[in-house]
Amino acid sequence: MLSDKKEVVIIGAGFAGLTLAQKICKYKKILEVTVIDKKENMEFLPLLPDCIGREINPDNLATNIKALSNLLNFKFINEPVIELNINKNLIVTTNNVIKYDYLIISAGSEPNFYGNNELKKLVYTINNIKDIKTIKEKLKENFKNFVIIGAGYTGIEIATNIKIYLNKYNKEAKVILIEKGDTILPILPIWIKKYVEKKLKDMDILIYTNSQIKRLDKNLIEIYPSHLFDNALIIWSAGVKTAPFIDDLNLEKNNQGRIKVNRFLQINNNSFAMGDAALFIHKDVPLRMAVQFAISQANCVAYNIISLIKNKKLKKFIPQDLGYIIPIASNFSCGIILGVKVKGIIPTIMHFIMCIYRTNGIKNKIGIIKSLFKKYA
Ligand SMILES: Cc1cc2nc3c(=O)[nH]c(=O)nc-3n(C[C@H](O)[C@H](O)[C@H](O)COP(=O)(O)OP(=O)(O)OC[C@H]3O[C@@H](n4cnc5c(N)ncnc54)[C@H](O)[C@@H]3O)c2cc1C
Repeated sequence: MLSDKKEVVIIGAGFAGLTLAQKICKYKKILEVTVIDKKENMEFLPLLPDCIGREINPDNLATNIKALSNLLNFKFINEPVIELNINKNLIVTTNNVIKYDYLIISAGSEPNFYGNNELKKLVYTINNIKDIKTIKEKLKENFKNFVIIGAGYTGIEIATNIKIYLNKYNKEAKVILIEKGDTILPILPIWIKKYVEKKLKDMDILIYTNSQIKRLDKNLIEIYPSHLFDNALIIWSAGVKTAPFIDDLNLEKNNQGRIKVNRFLQINNNSFAMGDAALFIHKDVPLRMAVQFAISQANCVAYNIISLIKNKKLKKFIPQDLGYIIPIASNFSCGIILGVKVKGIIPTIMHFIMCIYRTNGIKNKIGIIKSLFKKYA
């Protein structure tokens, strides 16, 4: 007998994808869930920079997706999606062609090299557990300079964590932040920029704004007008874009490749995008990439998929912004929580509490807590 269950396929098992899987796997009578991810593990990205300064074990940021699939009862395909045909409802991975009734794209984002493949070979990134393990190995070498390109919140987090690491191990090296715009944290309020700039200066982190790269080579960077840093570990943190398979889709996107979705988070009748992959315009600007929105969008998409299958009315996604924190490894973080300005140790503690709360698995949570209280030799 043919099953009339609907095939729901989720591309990307990050914050958004796994939250959605968790919600809809309960509806086994009406749907089958398949999750596709190129990685074996869901990775807790917000704590990656803290693996340097706080020496959190990167393995504590991983949750095995296969184990979750057994627990929640979804099918897991551990392969990258390389092509998608939205008109024919087909997904192509390295070894499979998958047909779907409902599709959800939650493939996150990755470093943006703006099409420059040479650049990619000369710099390091911090976007996954493999990256952070590489950087931790590199930190054992005696670099004279650590140059971080991009002074957004991730670049700042990386710079301050490297500085803390160097201080703890009495290593002599400069930490340099390079920003092509005329200020650090370009889109944030002035008081945050000023506060963070002061804290970076207190930590002896050098900041070069309005800076363009003049020359880039292996372990060497020269910026205009005439600053040269050799024996340098160069980390690229100058923007993100969506996964390459999205590049080829003939859909409305922004310059980061985020896919435009409607109020219900739909791309079309039977497909959705959420998390970093989705371009949701709120108060005339794109909703920022953040864990809280990846999770709340997944909850909304879960509701809407079940509603579509049951022929019920869809729910609009209304973002509830809890705020944000700029984590600074010297414990002088800052941000806005529930509309209130916060500075110093309180936002630092809140950053870790939120991260521990959202991390999967008791073993990982305990591992992270232990690292935070660990003294250095
Ligand atoms: C270093 C760093 C620090 C951050 N700090 C914070 C913070 O403090 N607070 C905050 O709110 N946000 C932070 N973010 C951003 C936050 O992590 C993202 O907004 C969030 O992860 C988005 O969730 P998502 O589910 O859309 O994507 P992700 O969690 O990135 O998941 C996407 C999944 O898709 C998979 N995927 C990608 N391409 C393919 C493909 N072709 N085929 C199959 N699978 C694919 C990936 O392997 C991944 O598992 C940080 C990000 C980074 C990198």
